[in-house]
Amino acid sequence: MNLHEYQGKAILNSFGVRIQRGIVADNHLKAVEAAKQLTVETGTSWWVVKAQIHAGGRGKGGGVKLAKSLQDVETISKNIIGMMLITPQTSVEGKKVNQVLIAEDVYYPGEAQHEEFYMSVLLNRATGKNMIMYSTEGGMDIETVAEETPHLIFTEEIDPTLGILAFQARKIAFNLDLSGDAFKEMVKFVTSLYTAYINSDATLFEINPVLKTSDNKILAVDAKVTIDDSSLFRHKEYINLRDLREENPIEVEANAVGLNYVALDGNVGCMVNGAGLAMSTMDLIKQSGGEPANFLDVGGTADAERVETGFRIILKDPKVKAILVNIFGGIVRCDRVAQGIVDAYKNMGDEIKIPIIVRLQGTNAVEAKILIDQSGLAVHSVVEFQEAADKVKEVLAF
Ligand code: GDP
Ligand code: MN
Repeated sequence: MNLHEYQGKAILNSFGVRIQRGIVADNHLKAVEAAKQLTVETGTSWWVVKAQIHAGGRGKGGGVKLAKSLQDVETISKNIIGMMLITPQTSVEGKKVNQVLIAEDVYYPGEAQHEEFYMSVLLNRATGKNMIMYSTEGGMDIETVAEETPHLIFTEEIDPTLGILAFQARKIAFNLDLSGDAFKEMVKFVTSLYTAYINSDATLFEINPVLKTSDNKILAVDAKVTIDDSSLFRHKEYINLRDLREENPIEVEANAVGLNYVALDGNVGCMVNGAGLAMSTMDLIKQSGGEPANFLDVGGTADAERVETGFRIILKDPKVKAILVNIFGGIVRCDRVAQGIVDAYKNMGDEIKIPIIVRLQGTNAVEAKILIDQSGLAVHSVVEFQEAADKVKEVLAF
């Protein structure tokens, strides 16, 4: 589950990480109230208006703007709320902005002694350890830094059973060229950041920029946070943080009915039982000259109802030109699945306007093929993997 910047910052703050303070608003009047409130709390007289969407690069896209008066706050918020914000990380249409974060200006006008760093905490699957990636080159695209000056990116591996050790936090502060109060602040920042990452069951905390202010405070100006979905059962306090408006609507719908569906960019929909078979089916589609439109694992019970639900979900994607059903009948018998497909197809009538290729293999595969072939429906049935590949190629040629 991805979080908005303001939600990520609230979690950071609860673990003692210093943050740029802010208040979220969904219209320009509330934005002005938020700005006034921030002045009471922090004494700030300038503010930044920050679009809240699940994508980075907002600054570049015009979604982060400095406001030097309450009038500015109002005008800028009015412009940003409701706009389609296009950034290097969104689609070409952009993402609709539903709310803005009004934040205190932490760059102290007139003084240029601040420094911007990059820092993230994530899992290194190869070593089975957590790692802190950090760089002196914050505030810009970390991908560009990685490409052009990779020696400026450091990583520190943290053994999850030991947690972050004091010397590691000091090493990070040292490599960032800090001394005095800023050094101490950074040690505290890194340690609390790691604690936040562990205790919130996150898979990513990315802070870009981490700011060193002219008075040597270290704080999080941005926060990109992903919480591990599999841990949500023990984080009831995070359930309301999910913003479904930011997620793919077909995925949301599929997940609500218990289907394991991931939307992709291609033109061939697929319905498969088992994640491994689903992966190899996607490979097969690619090798046949198509592109998978989705990943869909219907699981063990491929009955008529489930098959129909699967078809309906796949067909919501207008890019789909054909559907490949690839089911292995181990626990479930192929003839039952075939019957399910026939029933679902009949039920849906002319809602299905594209070719469907069905490959059933395993228990009663032959009976299943006969069942489909004799149904009189426009379904191509095959038994071998290669035949399925050839059929996909054939139907895509039209
Ligand atoms: P992103 O573009 O989506 O990564 O959004 P960020 O939260 O990182 O903000 C983008 C940029 O806005 C930062 O790199 C800063 O340069 C700038 N910015 C953020 N907060 C402030 C602030 O308080 N004052 C000023 N002057 N600039 C800020
Ligand atoms: Mn950023």
